[in-house]
Amino acid sequence: MNNSGLLDASVTCLNCELESSLQEVVCPKCKIPLVNDFKENNRFSREDRDISHRLLDIDTQINKARMLLFFVSGITLIQHFFFMTVEEGVNGSAILIEGAIISLIYFVFAWFVPKFPRVCFIGGLLTYLTLRYLAYLINPATLTSSMLFKVIVIGGLSHGILNAFWAVRIKDKLRARV
Ligand SMILES: [Zn+2]
Repeated sequence: MNNSGLLDASVTCLNCELESSLQEVVCPKCKIPLVNDFKENNRFSREDRDISHRLLDIDTQINKARMLLFFVSGITLIQHFFFMTVEEGVNGSAILIEGAIISLIYFVFAWFVPKFPRVCFIGGLLTYLTLRYLAYLINPATLTSSMLFKVIVIGGLSHGILNAFWAVRIKDKLRARV
């Protein structure tokens, strides 16, 4: 390791020995808190283990919600493509471009979930609700169509938002613990 200053300094997780930046509050891999007095007693407390389990579970939930965003992205493109080929007298390329743009928006949100989970889930949910509302304004009958899918998407993304906020709350508490 070189000596180029604090920003390059790293901390080693005593649990899995992964090296991570000093900015990390928990180990990126096993989620054991790194901000702790573990240097003195060289072991993790019961509380640390609980936090680790909780954060790993939150990570799993966030990943599920992320997969849902990828799924909505894919299904949007398929739906538009299907609509273009089935409906007559519509502007096919316009529909396909619309589908591609909406699909891309969901894809970008899904892609950046690991970096900005709160922003991406809130953005994804707002996009979905706005588009469903616009569809309702154009054709009120769309409100009750494929209700199960709507419930899954809205519920799943809301769950993602909650978990993203919980992760931040736990990490803020850890920072305050020092
Ligand atoms: Zn670790």
